[in-house]
Amino acid sequence: MSKHRPNRVHHRQPMPGGGQNIGAPRATLLDCADETRQSSPPSAPNWTTKRVLLLNASFEPLTTVSARRAVILLLRARAEVLHSDPRGAIVHSAGHQIQVPSVIRLTVYVRVPYIARVPLTRAALMQRDRNRCGYCGGKAETIDHVIPRSRGGTHTWDNCVACCAKCNHRKADKLLGEIGWTLATPLRAPSGKHWHLVSKIRAFDPVWSHYVPALVSA
Ligand SMILES: [Zn+2]
Repeated sequence: MSKHRPNRVHHRQPMPGGGQNIGAPRATLLDCADETRQSSPPSAPNWTTKRVLLLNASFEPLTTVSARRAVILLLRARAEVLHSDPRGAIVHSAGHQIQVPSVIRLTVYVRVPYIARVPLTRAALMQRDRNRCGYCGGKAETIDHVIPRSRGGTHTWDNCVACCAKCNHRKADKLLGEIGWTLATPLRAPSGKHWHLVSKIRAFDPVWSHYVPALVSA
């Protein structure tokens, strides 16, 4: 087991103006910046699982990063806090304290190659369909293949729809024409850079929806 000194993390005493560096920089946290090492703040379970939304300097959403990575970007002035989180863990490093924010922004623009095809994931499909059943408009809980897979349907954007459990059960392996159902809206693959990010996000801070237009809460 690694014996390196853990960073101290406390949830007490939220710091006003979260994300501001306080005092002269000391490199304790930076010295431990190698992400292959395990940070070990046993008193802060959220610290290891919390994700922070990272925007490009142009405000375009790029990805999510670990809280640890976010703090390192802030300490190195590679990013600035865009949206603080009053409930975020406070990271103490000699002479420094930073409250883990919700959203950060790179200080310098980075070019990101554009990939046209958005991967079909449950998270992205639920966001495309706004967490609503494509048949009855109720709260979606599952994914339905419009043409059932047992009848040759593909697992593609134009054949998958968010669906409530009741409709999913009633439809079973039937075709829409066989039961007289129609879809509320045609099924299309989403397009736009931020959809790549959406396809990877499983759980998110509600404030992220201000920065990623496609995100809607379940
Ligand atoms: Zn339904």
